[in-house]
Amino acid sequence: MPRLCSTKIVATLGPASSDPATIRKLFEAGADVFRLNFSHGSHDDHRARHAALREAEREIGHPIGILMDLQGPKLRVGTFEGGRATLATGAAFRLDLDAAPGTERRACLPHPEIFAALKDGADLLVDDGKLRLRVGRHGADFAECEVVTGGTISDRKGVNVPGVVLPISPLTEKDRRDLAFGLELGVDWVALSFVQRPEDIAEARRLVQGRAGVLAKLEKPSAIERLEEIVDLCDAAMVARGDLGVEMPPETVPGTQKRIVRLCRRAGKPVIVATQMLETMVSSPTPTRAEASDVATAVYDGADAVMLSAETASGKYPVEAVTIMEKIIESVEHDPLYRPIMDAVHAEPEHTAADAITAAARQVAHTVRASAIVTYTTSGSTTLRASRERPDVPILCLTEKLETARRLTLAWGVHPVVTEDVRSFEEMVDKACRFAKAGGLAQAGERVVITAGVPFGTPGATNVLRLAWVD
Ligand code: PEP
Repeated sequence: MPRLCSTKIVATLGPASSDPATIRKLFEAGADVFRLNFSHGSHDDHRARHAALREAEREIGHPIGILMDLQGPKLRVGTFEGGRATLATGAAFRLDLDAAPGTERRACLPHPEIFAALKDGADLLVDDGKLRLRVGRHGADFAECEVVTGGTISDRKGVNVPGVVLPISPLTEKDRRDLAFGLELGVDWVALSFVQRPEDIAEARRLVQGRAGVLAKLEKPSAIERLEEIVDLCDAAMVARGDLGVEMPPETVPGTQKRIVRLCRRAGKPVIVATQMLETMVSSPTPTRAEASDVATAVYDGADAVMLSAETASGKYPVEAVTIMEKIIESVEHDPLYRPIMDAVHAEPEHTAADAITAAARQVAHTVRASAIVTYTTSGSTTLRASRERPDVPILCLTEKLETARRLTLAWGVHPVVTEDVRSFEEMVDKACRFAKAGGLAQAGERVVITAGVPFGTPGATNVLRLAWVD
């Protein structure tokens, strides 16, 4: 068990970090989950990354989580004469379905579904919001716009339509092919981009069929409007601040981040805070103080994980970025203010055996000053409930299912270990103490709190809480 921090690190793999030696270094520096970004790279690239990760997992003897991030329905303009055009603020600009190269007066927007859903006065944002177009007269195949914020527009730049729910599936044809490929490889989490409504999650769940956890990337105002329903349906969520900050005014992103983290914590669903966390480290060996503070804020808020994107995928200092992120997490988790801030949000347990037992385990561990909580789990759901309690000791998760262990690498405070199921109380206590000691979570003479289900080996039957001394 290489790291004892509770907050997890997600590192995106890319050209700067995909060789086996760098992957190993990223893991040793503190990365728990690796993200394969299907907006970039070929299937062969991702297959090689996946194989390198599983090889590292075998060598290290510790589960590694793999998250595939689907590109989703990213909307783009067509091409331009000479590759670009300059739009003057206040000028008229037309968007249509004509594939001819664009000029400073018009361009192709090859998405009839946008024209069908447009409303008078809607804003179209181009190139991460650098240009803003306001829709005037519009029809099934055109929109006449006023350039509200001008600038240079170039080939295939992205388009966001913040105020409009588009009648499109969150899974394009490419996403469906990528998803089948990723599930075949054996990824642990599937991230859905540009989720607009709860039905999008339901559609993805039907395709994934439990073979991976379904993670909702929250980056659209329409998703934020239906946040409770979306969080209810997904297995985990991501505050995808890149696109969120394009579609919503930047000053609303911090509050939205806090709301998402709080809601996910209450629901017991792992939540990742993502994007631009240590952006400066794409080209500099140190972060800004503001970036360090941003990572720390997510940790104080009790997010399950913080994520690195370009910093590890294409930056000059991928290992340094993980190392610094780990140091920030460690520093916050040792700050005397951390606990009071974390504990300010504490959801009531639900009326289930798993919640009753795990809430009691947290309380008992605190009262007797135990060193760890040990959970026996099959599906991982009891361990997630223990994580939701945000106890002040680490959670050792013992499971016979490798998939469960890998998925739980994302969860706050959880140290997953794969081991055969136990058949007796004696074996349950003995194994819990041995693994806690071997993992550095408890020393001889200290106590652990164990939760399990009896009869042993019955999924979903958590009903036992036991205190044990480590010898
Ligand atoms: C984001 O928009 O913040 C995000 C994480 O998604 P992507 O990196 O795919 O743009």
